[in-house]
Amino acid sequence: MNEREIVVPAEFEYLYAKGPERPVVKIPSPVLRQKAAEIKKIDSKVDQLIDRMFKIMKMANGVGLAATQVGTLQRLFVMAPEGMKPVALINPVIIKSEGSYCGQEGCLSIPGLYGDVTRPDSVIIHAMDRKGRELEYELEGMPAKVAQHELDHLDGILFIDLVDLATVHWSHPDGEPKAD
Ligand code: ZN
Repeated sequence: MNEREIVVPAEFEYLYAKGPERPVVKIPSPVLRQKAAEIKKIDSKVDQLIDRMFKIMKMANGVGLAATQVGTLQRLFVMAPEGMKPVALINPVIIKSEGSYCGQEGCLSIPGLYGDVTRPDSVIIHAMDRKGRELEYELEGMPAKVAQHELDHLDGILFIDLVDLATVHWSHPDGEPKAD
C-alpha cells in the first residue's frame, strides 16, 4: 500500500489540516520518502531540534517521532513508549533483532489510519544520546516496535509499506472529533 492509494475519508480530513496545532508533516509530502543524513555533530541546533520534537510528540499524543516528520532530514528520533522515559536516539542502527511480533501501528504522518505490522520482537539499537554518549538500547515488545517504526522513517519507509492490508482501518486518534 502506498500513500497515493490512500483516500482520506471526509470525517478525517481535519487531521490533515496544516497549522501550528498540527505541525507534523503528513502524507503525501515527498519528504517522508527521503533518506535522512547522519548527524556529524551534536550542536545547539540539534539540541533545539530534540526539544522541539519532544514538545511536538507530547502535543500530538504520540509515542515516537522522527526528525523527518518535522521536515528535517537528519538521523534522529525521539520516543516515549508507555512506562519508558522519553529518549532521543541519534544516528540509530539496529545491531541485532530477534523474534516476531504482530501489533497495531498508526503514524502521526498518516493520522487516523491503523493496521497490523509484523516486526522483530526484540532489537538492540546502537545510538548516541543528546550528550553524544554511545549507547546500546535493548528493547522488547512495544518499545521495540516504536523504535523500528521511527527508524524506518529515517529511511523513507512508512508503516503502510509493511502493513497487513486485511487489517487496515480508520479510527479517530483522539476519540470522536470535537464538534465546533
Ligand atoms: Zn510514523
